[in-house]
Amino acid sequence: MTDFIELNTKKLLENAHIGVVIHRWDTSIIYANPTSLRLLRLSYKQIIGKCSIDPQWRFLDESGKKLLIEDYPVNKVKRTRERLKNEVLGVLDSSVDTISWFFINAYFEGEPGSPEAFIVVTFTDISDSKQLFSFKAIVENTQDMVIVTDATDINYPLSPKIIYVNKAFEKITGYSKDNVIGETPRILQGPLTDKQTTNRIHRALENCQEVSETLLNYDANGRPYWVDMNIIPLKNKYDEVTHFAAIERDISERKFYLEQLKNKNNEFKKLKTELENLIDERTKELRQANAKLEKIAYYDPLTNIPNRRFFIDHAHRLIKSCNRRGALVAFGLLDIDDFKVFNDTYGHDAGDIVLVDIAKFLNGFFRVDDAFCRYGGEEFAFVAAIKEADDATSLADRLLDGIRNLKIDINATTQISVTVSMGVQVSLPSEELDLEKGLKDADVTLYQSKGEGKNQVKITFDHR
Ligand code: GH3
Ligand code: MG
Ligand code: MG
Repeated sequence: MTDFIELNTKKLLENAHIGVVIHRWDTSIIYANPTSLRLLRLSYKQIIGKCSIDPQWRFLDESGKKLLIEDYPVNKVKRTRERLKNEVLGVLDSSVDTISWFFINAYFEGEPGSPEAFIVVTFTDISDSKQLFSFKAIVENTQDMVIVTDATDINYPLSPKIIYVNKAFEKITGYSKDNVIGETPRILQGPLTDKQTTNRIHRALENCQEVSETLLNYDANGRPYWVDMNIIPLKNKYDEVTHFAAIERDISERKFYLEQLKNKNNEFKKLKTELENLIDERTKELRQANAKLEKIAYYDPLTNIPNRRFFIDHAHRLIKSCNRRGALVAFGLLDIDDFKVFNDTYGHDAGDIVLVDIAKFLNGFFRVDDAFCRYGGEEFAFVAAIKEADDATSLADRLLDGIRNLKIDINATTQISVTVSMGVQVSLPSEELDLEKGLKDADVTLYQSKGEGKNQVKITFDHR
């Protein structure tokens, strides 16, 4: 103890790692150890006797605000006559941008106010651990959920253990800090949480790797919510992973809208297919309707053989072809004999049946190249290419015979036959050859047939 009293106090202060400044009661500095000068960034000259101090030099309070001179530690002790304990103050001057942070302790010795009284202020450097703003506050108040777990054991079922959650976590999950600290984040998982994803997360944690995943979690009330999570391993100064921090964002709403969008897209796709099918169907119907119209335009509705319009077109082409080939052209007109009487006797419907049956016969009789049609009420016309004049006679005879021999059932009990008269004009191929003229000549010939007793054919030949 004796030895201790003899200790050289000044030497001790000169070598101490804490800064020590000793003031008189009037606050003038009578001693400042080297550490205090270094920490306060002042020279011995500047401080002793309070000469000119850098006007940029200032004490700051914990929040970074400039301290009033009256609140400087020495003035505070002088005013309050109480000791200061671990007060946090910063020092800033014009030489560097960074703030030096200290724990300040101060006390007085001797009778307050007397010339023998001292005020001792000590400075302990805490710059390493003190920041002007708090990262914790940022983490605590961010909108994303932050969960920190320890990394000592990550295995099922109880680990890793949660040691910190922020406010957003409490708000979104409905779990309070007290509920979840000490628990494992697995309490957030539920029946629809994807096992493959949780396995991937587990593997990453085992390997102390960062991992990003999207996962379905459940809140305290069992409501499922989607999170985009990013888990980061946190290391100590020995580079060992001690904790994992998970930063999670609730993306349920986004996911919901994405799902909606996907559904809408599928609906549109379905609608598109349906529309396409409908268009296909309508196109088919239209094509059928067109074909029908075409038929109506070119076919006789009662007998279903070509009408006059179709015949004229076909006959023109046939005549041209005969001219090219040098073939003879036979123009023919057929007219049912006494059809008026027939109608009067058997009825109009029976007359229709006769027309249909004759048409059927003509349809089978003529070749595809021949043009024929129902020319008018009970008249039929044809144009055929023939090799020789005699061919016209045989064609006309076969035609007359064929019709004569038709057995037409006009009802369940009555079968009848009819006759026709025919006029044929055979023309040589020539540029002047004309359908109208040909048919007119045939009509004249037909008139002769009728005049000479009907049920016969008359043929005239063009002898140019
Ligand atoms: P002819 O031997 O001189 O030709 O005497 P016809 O009675 O046949 O001649 P006419 O020209 O006097 O009469 C033609 C008849 O054909 C009159 C009409 O009732 C009938 N006819 C015309 N078109 C149709 C039809 O589509 N259906 C029926 N059932 N009869 C028709
Ligand atoms: Mg007639
Ligand atoms: Mg007639």
